[in-house]
Amino acid sequence: MKKKARSDKFYRKTFLFFRPLFCLVAKMKLGVKAKQPKKFDEPILIYSNHTTDLDFLAVSAHIKNHFYLVCSRHILAMGLTGWLIEKLFHPVAVFKGSVKGGEMLDLLRRIKRGNNVLVFCEGRLSHNGRTQPIGIAAAQLAKAAKCRLVTFRTDGGFFKQPRWQKGMNPGKLFDSGIVNEYSKEELAALSDAELLEKIEKDLYTDAYEEQKKRMQKLKFPHGVGEILNYYSLCPACHDESLVCKDGFTLACKNCGYEMRWNEYGFFESEKPIVKTTAEWEALEQKAYSSRFSEGKFLADDGVSLFATDEAFQKTPLGTGTLASSAEGLSFGERSFPFSEMEGLEVLAGGASLVFSSKGEHFLLTTDGGNLAKYLYLYEWGKKQSTKES
Ligand SMILES: [Zn+2]
Repeated sequence: MKKKARSDKFYRKTFLFFRPLFCLVAKMKLGVKAKQPKKFDEPILIYSNHTTDLDFLAVSAHIKNHFYLVCSRHILAMGLTGWLIEKLFHPVAVFKGSVKGGEMLDLLRRIKRGNNVLVFCEGRLSHNGRTQPIGIAAAQLAKAAKCRLVTFRTDGGFFKQPRWQKGMNPGKLFDSGIVNEYSKEELAALSDAELLEKIEKDLYTDAYEEQKKRMQKLKFPHGVGEILNYYSLCPACHDESLVCKDGFTLACKNCGYEMRWNEYGFFESEKPIVKTTAEWEALEQKAYSSRFSEGKFLADDGVSLFATDEAFQKTPLGTGTLASSAEGLSFGERSFPFSEMEGLEVLAGGASLVFSSKGEHFLLTTDGGNLAKYLYLYEWGKKQSTKES
């Protein structure tokens, strides 16, 4: 018991030692400067939306207290960076997409010991500019924590670091700050569903809606070629034949359709079909759903399968064809029914997938291809099985 208390003290001290640096980087990299950062004198659970890898710096600029982060295991496995994050800040390590009971227990215990914890409820960066759906578990966790809940939101981060892009763009966030606070008594009086509604409302942002009002010129030094790892259907002919021509123009080799990403972050075209990534996603979802209903499923060659352990160490299981059906994914002899899969999630901007199945963890990866489209199938497959049951 004594050892744990000492550990918290160590991490609290380390964090607060680094906080001035966090605030400086938040100002330089995100344009965040909190006029009156708030200090809490009771343990808090912080829920934030997730738009860039540096979101925690924005939170730190606005909240003076030390907090533990909830962090995906694949980040902690990233060489020196992961090692340093673990050694200095000891985050609550979780498997992406499927947070286990033990991991939640770790989080709750830290709060019980008087610490604060920051959770990015969506568990992922936004790929379309909107806050992603939040699970009911977020509301249940907030009630179980029996402490003050603080909701926090960043706006405009999508244009700095869309999920399909590896690097970060220059420029400031549109805005950031604490949205609401809920005492443990207020939380206890709400049903899980009522609380989830409040959390979703507090954390909701739509970068495109905000940008429509601002029409601010933005910088995209990386171009948008990497978007094809995430969205790849031509909006005109629905073929997977788009190529990126000059960093900003996406051209279809099948029908010749072209659209160009402009300096405001919108698509423009002589024949506009989609103007935003959210609109493109809606189009893809519809196109793929009708394909799946006709029995046409996805397959990709040159995909590698790995088993991953708690420390995200990878064991190669082979390279070959990833195939799919209404029931699930298959890879060589192995099959992964959707009914047994947990938390299918995208990594590497769309070129990798992670999931758990029967207590084992797997990674599928392709060299620069789009595996994000399998999310449409996973969602579609789950809907079909709910319809049947
Ligand atoms: Zn086309």
